[in-house]
Order: sequence, then C-alpha cells, then structure tokens
Amino acid sequence: MTAKLIKGTEIREEILEEITKEVKNIKDKHGVVPGLVTILVGANPASLSYVTLKIKTAHRVGFNEVQDSQPVDISEADLLALIDKYNNDDAINGILVQLPLPGHIDDKKILNAIDPDKDVDGFHPINVGRLMIGGDELKFPPCTPAGIQELIVRSGMETNGAEVVVVGRSNIVGKPIANMMLQKGAGANSTVTVIHTGTKDMASHCKRADILIVAAGVPDLVKPEWIKPGACVIDVGVNRVGEKPSKKDPNKMVAILKGDVDFDKAKEIAGSITPVPGGVGPMTITMLMKNTLKSLKFKLGI
Ligand code: NAP
Repeated sequence: MTAKLIKGTEIREEILEEITKEVKNIKDKHGVVPGLVTILVGANPASLSYVTLKIKTAHRVGFNEVQDSQPVDISEADLLALIDKYNNDDAINGILVQLPLPGHIDDKKILNAIDPDKDVDGFHPINVGRLMIGGDELKFPPCTPAGIQELIVRSGMETNGAEVVVVGRSNIVGKPIANMMLQKGAGANSTVTVIHTGTKDMASHCKRADILIVAAGVPDLVKPEWIKPGACVIDVGVNRVGEKPSKKDPNKMVAILKGDVDFDKAKEIAGSITPVPGGVGPMTITMLMKNTLKSLKFKLGI
C-alpha cells in the first residue's frame, strides 16, 4: 500500500488564495486591510530569513506589512515601549516578535506585553487559556498546531471519534494540538493520548492511532511497525541529518532534512502521510496570515 501524500505546499496555496479573496472583500466593503508588524532585534541570518518570508507572504495576501528592525543592543524598556506603540496602533492587527531575542532581554516579559487581541502567534497566556477552554473562546490557535489541524481536515480524514496519538508535549506543538483535537466540534472531537519521554511502551499507544501526530525532534523515532495500517501520519519533526549540494547551485551546500517518522517504510503502511520537507512546514506562516486576518475580523465584528 502506498499512502496518499498530504502536501502542505498545495494546501498552503489553497488557504493563501482564500485569505487573499477575503482580504479583497473586506477592503471593498470596509476600506481596511489587516496590518501585521514583525519586530526583528539584531540581524541573526536565520531570523532575518524567517521574517522576510513572513513579510513576503503578508504582502502576497494583500496585508499592510511592517518590518520593524531594531538594533541588537536595544534595551528591554525600549522594546516594551515599541510593543506598547503597536498595541495602540489601530492599523496593526497582529504583532510578531521574532525569537530568539538577545540575552539581555527577557523573552517572556516581551511576549506577555503584546495585547492578547493582537497576539497572532497565540502564545500569550490568555490565548493559551482561551485555547484550553475552546469553542467561542478560542481566538488565535498557535500557528503550527493550527496548520496540522488544517492538513488533517483538508486531507479528508475523519476526526470525530478518531483515536489521536500525539508524540511530544511541547508548549508550541504537542500540548496545543492535543487540546485542539479533543475539543467538541468540527475537525476535532477525537480521543487523545499524549506521549513523552516518561511514557511506557510508546509502540502500543502509537499502534492504536487513527491519526498519529509526531513532534519529538528525533529522526526516525516512530518505527513503521508502530503504525496502524491506513492511519493518517503527520510528521512535524524537522531534523538536520547532514548536508548535500543544492539543486539550484551545486557549489552551495544545503541541509538534508528528515522527519521523526521513517517515511519510506511508513508510507507503505499509512493511509496518508506528510512528507518532510513540504508537509507541516509550509503551514506555519500560512496560519499566521489566517490569525492576522481573524484579528481584523474580530475588530470589525464580522
Ligand atoms: P521540543 O520542545 O523539544 O519537545 C519535544 C517533545 O518530544 C518533548 O515533549 C519530549 O518529551 C518528546 N520526546 C523527545 N524525545 C522523545 C522520545 N524518545 N520518546 C518520547 N517522547 C520524546 O520540540 P518541539 O518544539 O515540539 O518540536 C518538535 C519537532 O517539530 C522538532 O523537530 C521541530 O524542529 C519541529 N517543528 C516543526 C515546525 C514546523 O514545521 N513548522 C514547528 C515547530 C516544531 P519530554 O517532554 O518528556 O522531554
């Protein structure tokens, strides 16, 4: 059996098109577009490339995008004042502070200073609480888990009553996706088990999963024989396992990426599976756009 590939790259295009249309409709009716500011402190090359991609995507869907670059030695007080400025800026619906921040700045203090109604990353404790309560309380699901849920739903997988097993309990992936899948409602209503390093007999739990979501950061952690035939496998792991010459420029080396699931063997057992790269990865920024659009819609009451 060869599993159906759940392509994040294709689902991303579908969602970005939907967002672009909605942005245009809102602009025509209400004369406004979503505003997203990305605050980058210093010039870490990886952070700069993430920010550039976010800004490019925001531009593509018709947002008003602002890239605010600050020097690496900005004080914590000045950064807090900057956040306060954007909290009070009516044209800004989403505020994103690119991590990591320099050592002299307390990440938590900065992230907690963002107005929860503009926290489109969904990491503010108020939004974590809203996620836990679910239903109408939920405003901004964190982007990677929201992307995982979209992949499951848009690939046609039934979640109602499904056994969902989540490997990993991080605050950014494992815990939020586990919470989202157990909520009563569409795209969820599943029976959820969460696995971590304290779990005894991981294999027996994984074998029960109709939907197996793996976010451990350990290459090939999930063995093919742990997968229930026909299961939907979402591999969140991104592990750099070596380097190879780039296809575009053979003089340049690029990372060889591997997921947490032994893809080549797993695809012969699973019903559907995400590749790494090209599965969950493209969904995170996409969902950031969706949250920013939602923020404007909440504000307009539509
Ligand atoms: P994390 O904070 O390191 O958490 C990993 C979790 O996996 C922990 O809960 C840990 O258990 C569990 N775990 C690790 N090894 C295990 C083992 N041998 N058996 C059972 N459980 C194990 O990682 P994360 O931030 O959630 O990220 C996980 C992976 O997803 C990484 O590869 C990351 O790069 C990738 N990721 C991808 C995206 C994306 O594509 N957009 C976004 C975020 C993360 P304990 O709690 O017991 O330590």
